[in-house]
Amino acid sequence: MKKEIQISLLPEQVFLEEELLKSVSLFLKLEKERINHIEIIKRSIDARRTPINYQLKAHVYVDEDFTEVENTFNYQNVENSSDFVVIIGSGPAGLFAALQALEFGVKPIIFERGKDVRTRRKDLAILNKEGVVNPESNYCFGEGGAGTYSDGKLYTRSKKRGNVKRVLEALVYHGADKNILVDAHPHIGTNKLPQLIASIREQIISCGGEIHFDSKMTDIAIESGK
Ligand SMILES: Cc1cc2nc3c(=O)[nH]c(=O)nc-3n(C[C@H](O)[C@H](O)[C@H](O)COP(=O)(O)OP(=O)(O)OC[C@H]3O[C@@H](n4cnc5c(N)ncnc54)[C@H](O)[C@@H]3O)c2cc1C
Repeated sequence: MKKEIQISLLPEQVFLEEELLKSVSLFLKLEKERINHIEIIKRSIDARRTPINYQLKAHVYVDEDFTEVENTFNYQNVENSSDFVVIIGSGPAGLFAALQALEFGVKPIIFERGKDVRTRRKDLAILNKEGVVNPESNYCFGEGGAGTYSDGKLYTRSKKRGNVKRVLEALVYHGADKNILVDAHPHIGTNKLPQLIASIREQIISCGGEIHFDSKMTDIAIESGK
């Protein structure tokens, strides 16, 4: 049977598997051997008191096996698709629009004024060392968008708009730590974000989508109402 619990634990009880099992079995008044798996659903830290503790919400599999459900994304091969969508910018909005297009079987074609996430780093170094701003490649412009070289905090209050969990799952699918799925204040980290962005780009290209860097949209040509 699967039991849902809410439990308050010390950090060492949360992160050491054996300690977690011991604490949960005490909490449920069950022998450890009967617990097959503890699946953490939500984890938040309470630093208002000493000692600092964690609030956990978890599913405990008692006398029941646990089967991990892998996140699957149906990114289709769109190489020869006649349906295409032009996306301006490869910030979070552009990249996720492209991933969504792949799921719909539509070919995404991205135009990005800045450079790829790795090359962009060189322009940031020049900016920091010499104070010279490249107007097309800087902290705001370039692959990954505005926050790429800043932090990578992922929490949002706008939970009513869109499927936040699915976004986090897509980030995990492309290399983010699984902990972001359960942490109350998920965080990727500036050091890890560029690889993740590159992995999303590789996904788009491997499915037949296109990304063009150094390609700034300057105008839209409309002919015969199109
Ligand atoms: C310093 C900083 C730190 C941040 N930290 C966080 C954080 O920790 N967590 C968080 O959730 N949010 C953070 N944000 C906010 C977050 O970065 C933005 O909400 C997010 O980037 C918006 O995504 P977007 O795709 O809409 O736009 P942008 O990220 O702005 O992406 C737009 C993209 O379009 C490109 N572009 C623009 N004009 C053109 C054009 N004419 N032709 C072609 N390409 C073009 C740009 O180069 C850019 O890549 C931070 C923002 C900044 C500036």
